Amino acid sequence: MIREEKKFTFRREEMVKKQLEARGINDNRVLEAFRKVPRHLFVNEAFIDKAYIDSPLPIGNNQTISQPYIVAEMTQELELTGEDKVLEIGTGSGYQAAILAEIVEKVYTIERIHPLYIKTRSLFDKLKYHNILTRYSDGTSGYRDEGPFDAIIITAGSPKIPEPLINQLAIGGRLIIPVGSKDTQELIKVYKDESGIHKTNLGKCRFVQLIGEHAWKSPKKT
Ligand code: SAM
Repeated sequence: MIREEKKFTFRREEMVKKQLEARGINDNRVLEAFRKVPRHLFVNEAFIDKAYIDSPLPIGNNQTISQPYIVAEMTQELELTGEDKVLEIGTGSGYQAAILAEIVEKVYTIERIHPLYIKTRSLFDKLKYHNILTRYSDGTSGYRDEGPFDAIIITAGSPKIPEPLINQLAIGGRLIIPVGSKDTQELIKVYKDESGIHKTNLGKCRFVQLIGEHAWKSPKKT
């Protein structure tokens, strides 16, 4: 068991050096979070040995845990201060939410697939992530009654930026979302000030679909 842990600690350090620092991730709070969060506990058992590779992995229900670098890039671009109130749409494995929970005081996260929601909620409890609040619903409508949020991260690809999420973003807030077709998207960063929203394109990416009232329509009920 102890040997197991050492193996994973070593792999995490390698991931941080070779996949993150080498590609320009330099926010120490982000790097520290990646050193801490046991990614191998967020993947399906069959993939434990691959947990730290430079790639997304399946998590069941046709969904994925994102590649470590994209999680790091999106987290860094949120420009978190530690006191921010953060909303994530697309809980999935819970890995992104756990990374956020190491950096800020409170994370709100929404998942639309019930088995993933249940499984991840119990993992958060087991790992004592008491600062992560979970909700089972369509995240394209946001987390009603809890906004505004200083940062919003959407971890699935959408044809457009859902209007309710822009409304729930605080003045001075940052939002990151993959926007594009069902197959390929551009990672868009939104900054909101008194005059409105300002967008920056961070480059190409590829995510599973954001399905809901303000994004792609559901082919069938999941
Ligand atoms: N952040 C996740 C992680 O760390 O594992 C990545 C999850 S995966 C790339 C995207 C997730 O978004 C899936 O679990 C999917 O079910 C979820 N999703 C898609 N549309 C959604 C919606 N409208 N509301 C909430 N979750 C949604």
